[in-house]
Amino acid sequence: MRNNGWIEEAWRLAVVLAGGALMGVLFGHVLGVTLAVLALYTLSHLYHVRRFINWMDDPLNKDMPIQYGIWGDVYAKISRLLNAQVQRERRLNILLKQFQSSAAALPDAVVALGTSDEIRWANEAAQDLLGLRLPGDYGRPLANLFRTPAFQQFLSRRDFSQTLELAAPGNDAQRLSLRAVHYGKNQLLIIVQNVTDRYRVERIRRDFVANVSHELRTPLTVISGFVENMQADGDLCPAPWRKPLALISEQTARMQHIVEDLLLLARLEGGEKNLRQESVDMAAMLGMLAEEARLLAGRDIAVSVNIESGWHLEADPGLLRSAISNLVVNAVHHTPPGGEIVLHWVDEPNASCVVVEDTGEGIAPEHIPRLTERFYRVDNGRSRERGGTGLGLAIVKHILQVHEGRLEIASTPGEGSQFICRFPARLRAQPAGQLAQVPGVEDNYAQSNR
Ligand code: ADP
Repeated sequence: MRNNGWIEEAWRLAVVLAGGALMGVLFGHVLGVTLAVLALYTLSHLYHVRRFINWMDDPLNKDMPIQYGIWGDVYAKISRLLNAQVQRERRLNILLKQFQSSAAALPDAVVALGTSDEIRWANEAAQDLLGLRLPGDYGRPLANLFRTPAFQQFLSRRDFSQTLELAAPGNDAQRLSLRAVHYGKNQLLIIVQNVTDRYRVERIRRDFVANVSHELRTPLTVISGFVENMQADGDLCPAPWRKPLALISEQTARMQHIVEDLLLLARLEGGEKNLRQESVDMAAMLGMLAEEARLLAGRDIAVSVNIESGWHLEADPGLLRSAISNLVVNAVHHTPPGGEIVLHWVDEPNASCVVVEDTGEGIAPEHIPRLTERFYRVDNGRSRERGGTGLGLAIVKHILQVHEGRLEIASTPGEGSQFICRFPARLRAQPAGQLAQVPGVEDNYAQSNR
């Protein structure tokens, strides 16, 4: 490694100056000759600058013009830097090729999008699953491929916490599950899985449950009709039969509830086709539900409403009411006398939430993740005694899902529970007659039956 260029150069300059001075003494013009020698020295450096610029046009393929002096040092240092960079590029290229060949071998489609969501790279599975034609489709927006509003919304929303299921482009029989992950600066990696088989099995199960439930409807109606008649007619119902008939009537009603709940679940799972979109006055709805809860709970439980958001909600009023009513009825059933239930309507930065809060018995943490499973109950016996079907929270979860909302449950055993229904901010609606933005309502009101 060279590092004595400066010393060599200093010697060279000293020799040039001394030579110039000597010649100046000989010719009788010390200053003039010395300046002329210095000018030649400067010109030689300018000549090196020019050679340097020429060399920089293609430094990897041209030999270093000079190996000595300060210019030798400059060339040596730049050559070292360039060689290190070449090595780094080679290593990166090998890594990139390894990544591309492993991504290409993946059974899932992988598409890398640029900052304007244009296709930058895709693997082979993407050509099969999405019908991409490469390299022709490079640079085209991925949205040109999936023209469904669901996909356009998925991309524009930029919230990729959940996957999106949709039909394959140009092939409705094929179902794809799509997830997106951010990488680099504003770039996206789209990973697409073929879930046709899983979707088909789910549909068979859903159709089976819906068909069985539907078939059970008529026999149950017939049984409950005859039982009612027999109970009403004293001649048809001798004394020893009264108790068994009451039991038959109760169990038939329970089965009818289960059948209705299963049919509703099947409808919601299949993607509710007749979803209504109306601006729902949440303060009014929660007020009515609180009133019903008071009737159900009696005077021993305080039920109040806390309205902090001024927004209405764009939703299906019947389904929304049914979901919140489920939570409120559960809160009444699980809150002992002296307890309190509060129905909140509040805003968060990106969402508006209905929170049903109680000071009841609470739920142990190990049960919380399973509560929205069908027929999952913390206490089987007590739930059945109250006529619970065990499907309530599963229905709530699905109703929120068809509204693109989420159910969250927080609870402390012995202290109470919070059931939070979080709706995305885009479902907020302006109350009728209100022109300005509605950030919140100042005059929160609280009602209590105490
Ligand atoms: P169920 O018909 O049994 O009420 P749900 O699906 O509505 O069915 O509720 C599932 C289980 O969650 C209930 O059995 C109960 O154990 C528990 N649960 C629901 N809400 C509450 C609550 N507010 N406080 C305590 N436990 C609750």
